[in-house]
Amino acid sequence: MTETLINATDRSLLQTRHLLTDIPGPRSLELHAERAEQVSSGFGIALPVFVERAEGGIVRDVDGNRLIDFASGIAVTSLGASNSRVAERVAAQLEKFTHTCFMVTEYEAFTKVCSWLNRNTPGDFAKRTALFTTGAEAVENAVKISRAATGRPNVLVFDEAYHGRSLLTMAMTAKVNPYKKNFGPMPDHIVRAASANPLRNAGVRVEQVLESVESTLREHDPFSFAAMVIEPIQGEGGFVVPMAGFIPGLRKLADKYGIVLVLDEIQAGIGRTGTLFASEHEQVAGDLVLTAKALANGVPLSAVTGRAELLNAPHAGGLGGTYAGNPLACEAALAVFEQLEDGVLLANARRIEQVVREVLEPLLDSTSIVAQVRGRGAMLAVEFADRGTLVPRPDLAAKVSRDCHSQGVITLTCGTHGNVLRLLPPLVIGEDLLRDGLEVLSRAIASAA
Ligand SMILES: *Cc1c(COP(=O)(O)O)cnc(C)c1O
Repeated sequence: MTETLINATDRSLLQTRHLLTDIPGPRSLELHAERAEQVSSGFGIALPVFVERAEGGIVRDVDGNRLIDFASGIAVTSLGASNSRVAERVAAQLEKFTHTCFMVTEYEAFTKVCSWLNRNTPGDFAKRTALFTTGAEAVENAVKISRAATGRPNVLVFDEAYHGRSLLTMAMTAKVNPYKKNFGPMPDHIVRAASANPLRNAGVRVEQVLESVESTLREHDPFSFAAMVIEPIQGEGGFVVPMAGFIPGLRKLADKYGIVLVLDEIQAGIGRTGTLFASEHEQVAGDLVLTAKALANGVPLSAVTGRAELLNAPHAGGLGGTYAGNPLACEAALAVFEQLEDGVLLANARRIEQVVREVLEPLLDSTSIVAQVRGRGAMLAVEFADRGTLVPRPDLAAKVSRDCHSQGVITLTCGTHGNVLRLLPPLVIGEDLLRDGLEVLSRAIASAA
């Protein structure tokens, strides 16, 4: 047994896949039936299994099954869902106080989280940070800050973008079903430009995509744009790593027209891609950088970090929120930062990429349904499409995902066409467990082919 990615002796939950019942098991089915009687049917579900305990790379359900976690609660529990240092810090804070509201009386952890983000986000300039609770709130506040700083109304977003489910962020999101369907009218002043998806633009050069973005800006007057918001690697849109040079090209356009470049690192940031921030792969600094998801390993916290003159543009009292930067969440984030310092988690993310590529890339040749294996670090995806025509195959992504679920591997799909299977294992997953899950996945793909 080789456990190169984690120290398996730390674990109280055995780090092996183990099935006692069908998935979902009988107790999960009962609880799911009860849920249907009580919970809004507006919530979807990837896998109707009820969780009893989760740690490292394992989720144990109420039927005693141990499932491999390739989701991390959508890129949130990078340190595992019961990280001991996070638990200790949150527990210690819980004894002192749970809430004061940072707009009423202050506490130091809030400042410390801001200070870490100011120091560690890319960009060699004076920075400030504002903390909020959810990712969507960070996106909305980045728009407020950009408008206050520039006095301009418009916001540029991109094809295949995902920025959240609140009213403004759903308008900024590209995909209609499920995010926008029936929920209009949408707020104004959101303009969408082409994205630089390499698979879907074969033969197109990055300069041509950038020209198209510039012509979209020109159609609306480039000087009417407050902000340009982009995910350095698109998440829900399909784990799309843009063409090399696209993000740096946007940086240039933003500078040319005085537009605030907002990098939405909510899914890709905080170590997920093998660097602290995904934009480091392109050596681009945003004027504003957004973080949430893995920021506090599951305790709700989000942040807008960036140029001091931007963060200081809104009037005092213009930003905030009852729970913004809650003390429990700030302590959890400080525990995450402590564990990122030595670089081991970043190395784990890069090692996860090596192992995943080693196992899944051969499927590009051995089957005709895998169009691409892509991503960075522990943010990786398989796109299903007919090899020659690239016609998307959401049916195959769904089938493979179901097959993985029934064998105890938690996988998620994504993509504008729903034809992408994404892998977001916790950065602390053991290599044996990772390989076992990938073995299940590659057999499921071979059988779907
Ligand atoms: C998840 C996500 C959001 C929204 O975050 P919530 O916490 O769900 O509001 C925004 N942008 C990106 C890139 C995301 O992945």
